[in-house]
Amino acid sequence: MIDLTITEALKKLNSREISATELARAHLARIEKYNPELNAYITVTAERALADAAAADERIKNGNARTLDGIPIAMKDLFATRGIRTTAASHMLENFVPEYESTVSQKFIDAGTVLLGKSNLDEFAMGTFSKTSYFGAPVNPWQREKHLTAGGSSGGSTSAVASGMAMGATGTDTGGSIRFPCSITGLVGMKPTYGLSSRWGCVAFASSLDTPGPIARTVDDAALLLSAMAGHDPKDSTSADFKLNMQTPLQPILGDGKKLHVGVIKEFNDVKISDDMKSLFEKRVADLKSIGAEIIEVSIPNILDALAAYYIIAPAEASSNLARYDGVRYGLRVEGSDIYDTYKKTRAAGFGDEVKRRMIIGTAVLSSESYEVYFMQAARVRRMIADAFNRAFESCDLIVCPSGAGTAKPLDSDMTPLEYYALDLFTVAMNLAGVPAVSVPAGLASDGLPLGVQVVGKMFDDVHVLQLAKHIEQFANVDNRPTKIMGE
Ligand code: GLN
Repeated sequence: MIDLTITEALKKLNSREISATELARAHLARIEKYNPELNAYITVTAERALADAAAADERIKNGNARTLDGIPIAMKDLFATRGIRTTAASHMLENFVPEYESTVSQKFIDAGTVLLGKSNLDEFAMGTFSKTSYFGAPVNPWQREKHLTAGGSSGGSTSAVASGMAMGATGTDTGGSIRFPCSITGLVGMKPTYGLSSRWGCVAFASSLDTPGPIARTVDDAALLLSAMAGHDPKDSTSADFKLNMQTPLQPILGDGKKLHVGVIKEFNDVKISDDMKSLFEKRVADLKSIGAEIIEVSIPNILDALAAYYIIAPAEASSNLARYDGVRYGLRVEGSDIYDTYKKTRAAGFGDEVKRRMIIGTAVLSSESYEVYFMQAARVRRMIADAFNRAFESCDLIVCPSGAGTAKPLDSDMTPLEYYALDLFTVAMNLAGVPAVSVPAGLASDGLPLGVQVVGKMFDDVHVLQLAKHIEQFANVDNRPTKIMGE
């Protein structure tokens, strides 16, 4: 049962070959077995899962099945869930129990999913290996004896889905936090168009970049999850009033003489990536060509400056967003001699090093002396990158590029903050531009570990992005069944 995709499970649930309760129990048993080792969940909601499953079974029995009825999922612990602790993997929110439900998690309730628990992440989603989590890092299920990173910040979600502790999960992608972890765990992860999925009730990191999105084992499953979570939300002022016309299952966009221009980004040619990534990327591009894609080179002149711009804009917004954690209204409070001392003590104790680093950088780049040379300059670079994507899409329909430079690294790698930041080179530009991008497995590297490539589209062209990704998935044919990954 654990190896079923969401698409397959829905068929079996609706034909009543399996029940939602059986499916939930199988996943809970697996969580009990593997979560102590993989640390994918911060909070497991077993009772809630069984109640959700019973309700799903009832609806299915009565012929009132919802779109994802009975599908067990993990919710990144950044989405507020009413009555269930929501930590953002921070000591600051360690005991925070929201009174309200985020829009995305509410939409999953409405779609009939079964909540297994809240998945681990980097503290406030700041990081690339999920090592900044106050609760310790999740482990990559691939070659798990090696203790590799499952990526970050949505590393708990990828660890859970790849190991079969959930059939799908939510993530958030501010600079690559869905796509990078998926690329090194053999999963499909999408950053939809900015504004397609609501940020309401999701703990804020950098509001102009934060994008909730799906994590799954197949492109069709990701499409199903995205349809459930997308939609206009009046509670989020940047939510787009756009109706996503998803096909499930996705239809081929290539083959049968169909024409499509697929761009590859010239500036990425000079970036150092592993030989495996290079050859897998070239193979997949050749595959697309073989079924009728016309491959053209496109230029995004400032794309290599995206990293610098991102690491100014994201900390700037974070420093403003995180000012709310002051020990007064909610979250941790460490009593001081006066109110300022309370602020100081609360923040010193509540935030980890990486979060503090971002707040300091963010506050510095927004200061009156630095605002023009750092923040405004970064904002201009951002505009230029967005414009360059628009221009590129005048000559091509979709773009493909690597999701990262190489396979998963050991969790105990000793890296500087700048070395971590550099890992986001292939993902941040899409957040700055707002365009949709999905990471899909491209194959296995010589060390047997998975690698992903991205498909990028125009604003609101999310469906075509997924359609092309499905071709790549079929060519790559990576076996990501959890029992296989876990060596069972
Ligand atoms: N690694 C990036 C960062 O640390 C991306 C994080 C994210 O997308 N949430 O900022």
